[in-house]
Amino acid sequence: MAEREDLRARLAAQRAEREARDRLRVRRTVLRRDGVRCELADADGSPRWLVNFCGNDYLGLAQQFAVANALADGAMRTGAGGGASHLVCGHSREHELLERELADWLQAPRALLLGSGYMANLAVLQALLGDGDVCVQDRLNHASLIDAALLAGCRLRRYPHADAGGAMRQLRAAPGGAAMLATDGVFSMDGNVAPLRELAVAAHAQQALMYVDDAHGVGVLGPEGRGSVAAARLGVEQVPLQLVTLGKALGGCGAAVVGEADLIEHLAGTARPYIYTTALPPALATAALAAVKLARHEHWRRGKLAALVHRLRRGLGDEGFELMPSDTAIQPLLCGEDARALALSRALEAQGYWVAAIRPPTVPEGRARLRITLSAAHEEAHVDGLVEALARARDGLPADLQQ
Ligand SMILES: *Cc1c(COP(=O)(O)O)cnc(C)c1O
Repeated sequence: MAEREDLRARLAAQRAEREARDRLRVRRTVLRRDGVRCELADADGSPRWLVNFCGNDYLGLAQQFAVANALADGAMRTGAGGGASHLVCGHSREHELLERELADWLQAPRALLLGSGYMANLAVLQALLGDGDVCVQDRLNHASLIDAALLAGCRLRRYPHADAGGAMRQLRAAPGGAAMLATDGVFSMDGNVAPLRELAVAAHAQQALMYVDDAHGVGVLGPEGRGSVAAARLGVEQVPLQLVTLGKALGGCGAAVVGEADLIEHLAGTARPYIYTTALPPALATAALAAVKLARHEHWRRGKLAALVHRLRRGLGDEGFELMPSDTAIQPLLCGEDARALALSRALEAQGYWVAAIRPPTVPEGRARLRITLSAAHEEAHVDGLVEALARARDGLPADLQQ
């Protein structure tokens, strides 16, 4: 009989390797949260308040009064949980109202709520594609889209980042079967927007269904915050399905796939990550409904966010930093080596700012970065303080980490 590998020994070896490369992932526990300020325990266990510049609450809605109140009120009426899956007895009026609001907002016939963006991507690809089909994806797409193609069992072909010609070539080289072109609308670790109009042309020419994961665009870009697809003046005709997450600009939790009625109906009836899981708590749907209304109508949030983005870019530019090209809330500072990103992150923390270092495999090798994110809940003084702290952090780096 073949010798069986010792699983625990293998895991220990893998852990030791990650540790040797400074790649262990640690969680930080937030003790208290007050808008963009977070209280954390530092290394010796004493609590400290930091200004958070690495969250995804782009519009400042997570703790907005009407949103939190809708959640509390919803919980008093409907309880803490979803109770069952949607197709058994877990689908409630609160879910229905949110789906209608999301469809209306994004000007699509239908929306379908799912437990998270991760699950929504699994659902879309698993329900629509199978053996013999092909999914072409941007090389920098979110991990959930890559995992979704594996779950679907389709062929996965990746094209160079933001390269619509590359997408076209990949589609052409994979004839037979059905095809999908899937891209992040706003790239989560880079902040730039996909060339959606060019991609739509490629998808159309190759009869591929275009799917845009707009986790970081919805709420932030486009008229009424309708996202990157609307900002590119595209609609359901060119982009039959898109993903909206409720956990980022909308400040809550969960996600929705929005688009063509027949496709959504197919997902609702057949997608395993939809069918075999408990419905989102109705109170969360009520909170998200309140958040969508604010996101649609409180234009000042997008205006303030854009002004802060401009201020950060100008401030860091004046200090000789070069941010990656982005005009979204995601403003990464490329550091290259992991050690440099970690050292800057630690030096920022010592000065009262929280910007996590993003390292491989979340980003490609040699492309570690500080993924700075802004929120309408930040103030100008926070941004100015971060700029100064970054300049000091850089000036204090050991010689081997200077660039
Ligand atoms: C965050 C994110 C997801 C996952 O959404 P969750 O609701 O957090 O599971 C999917 N796609 C992209 C591009 C994301 O950034």
